[in-house]
Amino acid sequence: MAQHSVDSRAGADTQVIVVGAGPVGLMLAGELRLGGAEVTVLEQRPAATTESRASTLHARTMEILDGRGLLDELGTVPSEPRGHIGGMPLDLTLPGPYPGQWKVPQTRTEEILQEWALSLGAGICRGREVTGLREGEDRVELDVADSGGPSRMTARYVVGCDGEDSTVRRLAGIGFPGRPAERELLRADVSGIDIPGRRFERLERGLAIAARRPDGVTRVMVHEFGRAAQQRDGEPDFDEVARVWRRVTGEDISGGTPHWVNAFGDANRQAAHYRTGRVLLAGDAAHQQMPVGGQALNLGLQDAVNLGWKLALEAGGRAGDGLLDSYHTERHAVGRRTLTNIQAQATLLLGGGEVDALRTVIGELVTKERVRAHLAGMISGLDTRYDVGDDTHPLHGARLPHTELTTQDGTHTTAAALLRTGRGLLLDLDGDDEGSGDEGDVRPGSAAEPWSDRVTVVRARLRTDGTGHPLAGTGTVLVRPDGHIVRAGHGADGLRTALRRWFGPPLSTPTTPPTATAATTAATPAVKSAATTAATTAATIAKTLAGNGRDDMGRLTGRTALVTGSSRGMGRAAALRLAMDGALVAVHYTSNKEAADDVVGAIEKDGGRAFAVRAELGVPGDVHELFLGLEEGLKERTGSTDLNILVNNAGVMGGVAPEEITPEQFDRLMAVNAKAPFFIIQRALKNMPDGGRIINISSGLTRFANPEETAYAMTKGAVEQLALHFAKHLGPRNITINSVAPGITRNSNPVFDIPEVVEQMAQLSTFGRVGNPEDVADVIGFLASDDARWVTGSFVDASGGTLLG
Ligand code: NAP
Repeated sequence: MAQHSVDSRAGADTQVIVVGAGPVGLMLAGELRLGGAEVTVLEQRPAATTESRASTLHARTMEILDGRGLLDELGTVPSEPRGHIGGMPLDLTLPGPYPGQWKVPQTRTEEILQEWALSLGAGICRGREVTGLREGEDRVELDVADSGGPSRMTARYVVGCDGEDSTVRRLAGIGFPGRPAERELLRADVSGIDIPGRRFERLERGLAIAARRPDGVTRVMVHEFGRAAQQRDGEPDFDEVARVWRRVTGEDISGGTPHWVNAFGDANRQAAHYRTGRVLLAGDAAHQQMPVGGQALNLGLQDAVNLGWKLALEAGGRAGDGLLDSYHTERHAVGRRTLTNIQAQATLLLGGGEVDALRTVIGELVTKERVRAHLAGMISGLDTRYDVGDDTHPLHGARLPHTELTTQDGTHTTAAALLRTGRGLLLDLDGDDEGSGDEGDVRPGSAAEPWSDRVTVVRARLRTDGTGHPLAGTGTVLVRPDGHIVRAGHGADGLRTALRRWFGPPLSTPTTPPTATAATTAATPAVKSAATTAATTAATIAKTLAGNGRDDMGRLTGRTALVTGSSRGMGRAAALRLAMDGALVAVHYTSNKEAADDVVGAIEKDGGRAFAVRAELGVPGDVHELFLGLEEGLKERTGSTDLNILVNNAGVMGGVAPEEITPEQFDRLMAVNAKAPFFIIQRALKNMPDGGRIINISSGLTRFANPEETAYAMTKGAVEQLALHFAKHLGPRNITINSVAPGITRNSNPVFDIPEVVEQMAQLSTFGRVGNPEDVADVIGFLASDDARWVTGSFVDASGGTLLG
């Protein structure tokens, strides 16, 4: 591969270029977008193919499509439990929701995947042929030819999904060892013929297959025993197919109209490396095999699903060491196994009389249930298991089995539905409220908090009585976006290690102090700065622990903080952050005591201090009730009622059109969002020593329009005035007061479970994702610290560059 001629000063055009818009390339494009990577697909053909090469989707692929919410698009799909091995009938039924084979023309599969990838924001450019490839230090440069002439494109990574004759593989110099085709099957889709159906019929002179589709087109496939694969420049003539068909079956199909004719051989090759540097291969570009029983397409789609999330994390600078290389390790091994079974099947299928005895023996074996199930697992992809480097639990590396669940809020769902966001999943099936395990005895969900941008935590129980279900009694399972389990067991023991390994470094300061080297290996500046902060904080903690004891840890040690509305969302993240920095935090809530207690529990498990305080805001007596509980809690723990940090975070959204909002609704918004913060500040100033900090949470909606939230935005506009005027008033006391305006930020609103909507919202930010509570909490942490002593009366946009224009 040519090196170094790429100008490394200019930025790459995109993060990932996928070459090839077949099913594998399109699936990969969608997966990359789900993971937040920018992706452009380049396809040589000017239009989508009308040929339907592969028409079988196996059970594992159906599960994957379910895990992306794509099955509805497929509609009613005919299924057939019966498959074959080397042409001998084999029942593919195994436990699971999609037993057997599912018949979907490849054109339809492509159509659906293309719509999906486009809807997620992938760019698909047709009529672009890749003619050159050079890998530089930080990107790959491609020469691209189209009707307008040659041009160049750069990306941080390039993936060849361009089929068995892959240009990307050739240009990247990746070896493709294996066996050339020795035998071949001729195939044609023909209308205007009327011949008997044949299912893998072995006749004296050869093998014949004929299947008539509902549209009247018959697909014929034929192999003449002993006939070697022909050297060809293009596809065979229909005349050749008709001649061989006549020799094998005695039937004349020459009068039919061919729609598509091709030949495929039993070549068996596999790329030596699925990844070299910044170039990767997936699908037939990585492995060439005889397409029997649809395994080739399914293998390719599953490559794409294994690679997509890993490459997205890598391109975004959030992957842990070795994650991207695990794509080769895992999929090369699966490919090797599939190629071996296909080679064995090719021998059984295309061999002449010399394989008859072997077929008889195997025919007997497949009647044994254990053999049948073993082979069905292999062909359907359901038994794919990765070596995840930890074999302490039988579920490690296996796919998440079909599971019906009831989540904590009573919703009925399935494990597949929970994977639809394309994020990792921490499924907490432990009924206990207490955590267990040796990592600080925390609840697994709290341990995963620093990965909340990549991993969704769901507490649920099995809907069946669980007896016999593989997950019964498992406790917690950590599942990768591709549906494979990487950690199973009770409590948080080993969980952080697994989270780091598969999901990269935590974004905010981890609760287990990292070493400086471990924490600063991340690639992007954002992650680096978070990791550096983590390392610095860890060093401070270690130093103070050694010297002065636990009460003095962190930069906010000795301070007290009130965060309103901190039972969930950004308030929760802010409470965790301030506590981590050493403050004693009052966790305020109004209705959800359990959630507030959970925040207090998470803080205490990590060695911090907190207590919950209830008060409904926006009603008469609200501030009085709040400060009664606050002062009692402070006094009990510190002997004083001093409050150093106030975060006015609690708020309610409107979501009512300006024509429809009632005066009562308007008053309520104003009372909770604007009036309460004013009077909380007024009251808090009695308790606040000089040098205190006030942070009011506003909203990006004071900067950009959303008519549904007119009244809400008015309340936030009012909140922003607090910073300006109080800053002047409180300067002499060295108290700072600032506004923080988040953009769209994840909270418990179910809208964040709908990938399509999240994707649309993500487009508003210049970083292409929605905000996480921690993104805002870190800004609050800074404004609360001594480092922000010179910032007051200011408006801080924490919207991830929303609608910059
Ligand atoms: P959230 O998840 O909806 O949580 C709201 C919190 O406020 C909860 O702790 C809730 O307590 C409390 N709360 C609500 N109404 C209350 C009342 N009347 N009295 C006392 N407490 C009340 O919030 P979020 O989405 O993280 O938003 C936090 C702040 O950021 C809000 O001011 C919001 O307006 C602002 N913001 C949010 C976004 C966003 O996209 N999420 C964007 C811009 C600005 P309970 O749990 O006890 O009900």
